[in-house]
Amino acid sequence: MAKRDYYEILGVAKDADDDTIKKAYRKLAMKHHPDRNPGDKDAEAKFKEAAEAYEVLSDEKKRARYDQMGHAGVEGMGHAGGGFNSMEDVFAQFGDVFGGGRLFEQFFGQRGGDRGQGASLKLPLEISFREAAFGCSKTIDLKRNETCETCNGSGSKPGTKPTVCRLCSGAGMIRQGQGIFIVQTTCPQCGGAGKVIADPCTSCGGEGAKPKKITLKVRIPPGTDDNSRLRVAGEGEPGRDGGPRGDLYVFVSVAADPFFERHNNDVVCKVPLTYAQAAMGAEIDVPTLEGQATLRIPSGTQPSDLLRMRGLGIPDPENGRRGDQIVVATIQVPKRLSDRQKELLRELGEIEERSGEQRSFFDKIKKMFG
Ligand SMILES: [Zn+2]
Ligand SMILES: [Zn+2]
Repeated sequence: MAKRDYYEILGVAKDADDDTIKKAYRKLAMKHHPDRNPGDKDAEAKFKEAAEAYEVLSDEKKRARYDQMGHAGVEGMGHAGGGFNSMEDVFAQFGDVFGGGRLFEQFFGQRGGDRGQGASLKLPLEISFREAAFGCSKTIDLKRNETCETCNGSGSKPGTKPTVCRLCSGAGMIRQGQGIFIVQTTCPQCGGAGKVIADPCTSCGGEGAKPKKITLKVRIPPGTDDNSRLRVAGEGEPGRDGGPRGDLYVFVSVAADPFFERHNNDVVCKVPLTYAQAAMGAEIDVPTLEGQATLRIPSGTQPSDLLRMRGLGIPDPENGRRGDQIVVATIQVPKRLSDRQKELLRELGEIEERSGEQRSFFDKIKKMFG
């Protein structure tokens, strides 16, 4: 299969800046995230493809080579050309675009201590504008490890105990080198745990835990903004040997709304008015977060005038006080007119007086050129 253009994969222009590229990648990664599309091979392929494109376009040197020579220019640099082999690869490389760290931090990552707290879990979640404004309860599916009941999380066959690692004598680290050049590295034998499971539990294969799909309800508080991180205490990976679970971090992104944009706790909404409505005033229907409402447009409303609807904004996450809805007046000039409309407008044009602003504008022209 021919390789697709990296810019095309991310859906960005050739001159897109770093931030645009990162945002585009983040969006794709969320969409094709394996937790969202369990078992979907197509999504997995797209997830990896996007990661490969991002790896090249987010790196100044690689991007320059790619711009010059295309795919051939970056072959053999990092994952480009060969692609990512596994999801873990992708997370290891780009965990930070999801808000830091890998999605599934290493389970047995802690050093020392027998009853370590479990690793934290990270999960992306997209919610609607209204859900973010008023808060919501979301059911999320995720795969996490459950403590193995057979060995109670120890990883050792019941009745047996892990033995002290012989390579590092239980320190978890080994020192290499001579004189002042001593390098300390994680022990390759025990992976830093200091112990080795001599007789692994047959139920979990010595892991101490088994992956399981679970469903969780998460409460999103009112006023949650785009790119927020929510901590759900004690819903991460289980700890070692029955230690407490780590935390779950939900990375919330808020979908764009057809009407509203958020500015602090205010919602901004553009409303199209006819010339007649703006000139004479009118009562019009406007969307609000709670549904349709009537807004009185005062006569003489100008383009870009702001009309404030108090208390119809977003609740402040701290004190619950709501912001306002700000309606931006836009005035629509008709592109096509019926004969009757033309006739009326012509008549209007004949009797229309120049406003003070127009008069001073034309006076200035006269002064300059006349
Ligand atoms: Zn077990
Ligand atoms: Zn060791």
